[in-house]
Amino acid sequence: MNLWKRLLNLLLPPRCIKCGKILSEKNALCADCFKQINFIGKPFCHCCGTPFKSEKNLKFAKKQLCANCLKQKRHLFSLQRSCFVYDDFSKSLIINLKFNDCTADAETLAAMLYNAGKDIWDDQPDILIPVPLHKKRLLKRKYNQSALLVKYLSARTFIKADYLSLIRQENTIPQVQLKGKARRNNLKHAFAVAKPQNIKNKKVVLVDDVMTTGSTLNECAKVLLKNGAAAVYSLTLARTED
Ligand SMILES: [Zn+2]
Ligand SMILES: [Zn+2]
Repeated sequence: MNLWKRLLNLLLPPRCIKCGKILSEKNALCADCFKQINFIGKPFCHCCGTPFKSEKNLKFAKKQLCANCLKQKRHLFSLQRSCFVYDDFSKSLIINLKFNDCTADAETLAAMLYNAGKDIWDDQPDILIPVPLHKKRLLKRKYNQSALLVKYLSARTFIKADYLSLIRQENTIPQVQLKGKARRNNLKHAFAVAKPQNIKNKKVVLVDDVMTTGSTLNECAKVLLKNGAAAVYSLTLARTED
């Protein structure tokens, strides 16, 4: 470690992004907090990433699909992956990222996204696209947490980040305030592709913080495929348990 770095570490020691405990490494979680994250590990559906429950001792085929994916002839997403389950603990991590200007957290969380996306990287995608925020909300919040994740993910994977091609058109009501059909209607026509030439014949990875019903990601994927994307993948930090 050079002198400058050592001095900086003395003045501003790295802390756990969750509990604030002083750490030896920069931008990470302490062991206690790390243990509390409910990571999504194998076995899960090779296509949609849904974990297979209560069958931990059963042997699964390498690319096992869930009943839902087996039923579908055409898949909107080539693959979907998430790092961890959306629960009280991960919720607070994501809220920090979203509202408290904890932009340094994005680097740690992007490293987790990178690990969860292994099967996606094997397919050699061409671009990373964050689920966009509407201009008005972006002004209010100052940054898009998903774009921040994409920035660090792009630095790790050397895959191009594209912040301009997919846009959010209407200032929709936050999805969390709605349910079922109202959710889907709220999103219709919410997304558009501003620069179709950028995504034409490209394999696109959509990145977001949380997947709940998946309707936001679905709408984005539909619009991207309609505008010529060759394939769409989704990669999120958290997903709700069914
Ligand atoms: Zn901690
Ligand atoms: Zn599935």
